Amino acid sequence: MARCYTPPMITRDRYAPSPTGLQHIGGVRTALFNYLFAKASGGAFILRLEDTDRSRFDPAYVKNLYDTFAWLGLYWDEGPDIGGPYAPYIQSERFALYRQYALELIDKDKAYYCFCSPERLETVRSKREAARSSETGYDRYCRAIKRDHAAKRAADGEPCVIRLKIPLDNTTRFHDQLLGDIEWQNNDINPDPVLLKSDGFPTYHLANVVDDHLMGITHVLRAQEWLPSTPLHVILYQSFGWNPPAFCHLPMVMGQDGKKLSKRHGATSVDEFRHQGYLPEALINYVALLGASYIEGKDLYTLEELEVCFSLEKLNKAPAIFDYKKLEWYNGQYIRMKSDKDLAALALPHAVDAGLFGQNNAAPDETQGRAFIEAIPLIKERVSFLHEIPEKLRYLFAEPPLPETSEFLPKAMDIAKTIELLELGRELLEPLASRNDADAEAFIKAYAESHSVKLGNLMMPLRVALTGARVSPPLFGTVRILGAHVSRARVERALAALRKVNGQIT
Ligand code: GLU
Repeated sequence: MARCYTPPMITRDRYAPSPTGLQHIGGVRTALFNYLFAKASGGAFILRLEDTDRSRFDPAYVKNLYDTFAWLGLYWDEGPDIGGPYAPYIQSERFALYRQYALELIDKDKAYYCFCSPERLETVRSKREAARSSETGYDRYCRAIKRDHAAKRAADGEPCVIRLKIPLDNTTRFHDQLLGDIEWQNNDINPDPVLLKSDGFPTYHLANVVDDHLMGITHVLRAQEWLPSTPLHVILYQSFGWNPPAFCHLPMVMGQDGKKLSKRHGATSVDEFRHQGYLPEALINYVALLGASYIEGKDLYTLEELEVCFSLEKLNKAPAIFDYKKLEWYNGQYIRMKSDKDLAALALPHAVDAGLFGQNNAAPDETQGRAFIEAIPLIKERVSFLHEIPEKLRYLFAEPPLPETSEFLPKAMDIAKTIELLELGRELLEPLASRNDADAEAFIKAYAESHSVKLGNLMMPLRVALTGARVSPPLFGTVRILGAHVSRARVERALAALRKVNGQIT
């Protein structure tokens, strides 16, 4: 057989959200897998807005979509905002096209005009209900109307919709890249669904299939909840005489209780995660693992790594369980990977919001700004969220309330002894403020030894005096950032309070 040139398979896939809500984890997972599949196969990733449901459309959701993906750093190759060879990428700007294709199906005898009024449809429904009939959906009443006659009635302006003729017998088969061969009895498919509504608007099925075809989509990767629509889409492709794309229905995302992930489980919209102080890298890494496994034993993936190692073979059939604790772990990991300067910049809005630098969401002055960056290493290992950072560092920017006396006392020490320890500690402030951690540690150890006190006993009252708590970020860094002067003032305040309780005149 003669060899012939076969062009390389250029993949094209798309994320096709309906802007009727905030972008949530499920949508981001679909977008991310499409993005990764396109990158890994050298193809193109397209954004198409499926805004045919005008009653639920809200421009705020379109803005939220753009904001979300800009924050995540996921970019499409073609889309409403950047254009592309198949523009427009917004379905409401393509309405004339869907009408034209619906009419083409009528010409091909694969669709028909339906003139049934809402009242008639309601009567059919209630009669069936009364008769306890198991039949649902349209009763195909208008399918029998002669084509010329129907065309004339439509041309005369009689209100009508256009319905698809679902073949009455047989089954519809297609192959799903993840789930394998799928067969659907045609009489289990919604009887003759509407393609074009009486107001001329297309339904999801028509617009989706026409656009996927016209935009050259080769792979449809979408949530498994769309699986029941696929036989219908396959019939539509067949009715047009087009080749369907490859389908891949992604595993469901469930909460820990095995139910579909929803608000009941916690945050689901990306906005919420963002405001809670999650980093985009952590969200991307975790979402990329929802229903897929890549390299055995490897948890952390950058987007660039995922772009290389993603493939449909790596998808799991089983539903993915969304584990908030695991996501938190990822967030902590990515927080630790940030440089102090970058982390400070990311945490800054949270700190301003928390009033760390003064009332009314004051911005930091120069000294505060510097101190904030210097303080980052003190807490980097101890936080999982950006918003935890201001609370952990608050004691550096405002004197903490004076703790109860008992808080100052090391184990088995009374107040008088604690005062002595704190007085010893006071002498350390000057030398500690100018030493790095290693030198400070050596210095304080030698000091404790020469005064025959335990290191822990020396440090505890000092820590409580400076930070207001027994458990706090590291002491040496604290003294460095507060400086000897402020540190000393805090120690004096604590000493005065302890002496008072102890009955000493101050
Ligand atoms: N507009 C549909 C949605 O909101 C698209 C489903 C599909 O990918 O075909 O998810």
